[in-house]
Amino acid sequence: MNMIRIGIGKDLHRLIKGRPFLLGGVELPSERGELGHSDGDVLAHAVTDAVLGAAGLGDIGTLFPSSDPKWKDADSMELLRSAWALVREAGYVLSNLDCTVTCEKPKILPYRDLIRSSLAAALDAPLEAVFVKGKTAEGLGPVGEGKAVEAEAVCLLNGGRQC
Ligand code: MG
Repeated sequence: MNMIRIGIGKDLHRLIKGRPFLLGGVELPSERGELGHSDGDVLAHAVTDAVLGAAGLGDIGTLFPSSDPKWKDADSMELLRSAWALVREAGYVLSNLDCTVTCEKPKILPYRDLIRSSLAAALDAPLEAVFVKGKTAEGLGPVGEGKAVEAEAVCLLNGGRQC
């Protein structure tokens, strides 16, 4: 029986000087970047949680705990690819993924298609299956003050081996 499964992922990272600003494996020019145990790629983390949650296979924190030194400075796109391998192993393909990144700067739009193709490649999906939107927080809250970046992701998976 074919199944359609929905997943949601959300993440927030502090922004500090001297770190790369990474979104879906793409580095954007920025004075500040994400603080994190791993490389801090906030979008890769949200997407990882979305696909794992859709398949009911756990979450990024249980698969790659930040208490484990093994994941220090880990490449978050590698974590996403590992998580996706589990999801694919369970028989799913990505129907689509939709994401929103909220930060005051840098602007996401000039990098959108690069980010989309990076995520699509990691998820064995065509470019059309992945979309990314950039928003600001209108100067409000920690995101609006430029102290943090937030990402949300929703995905649909098709397939599955159960039933
Ligand atoms: Mg994170």
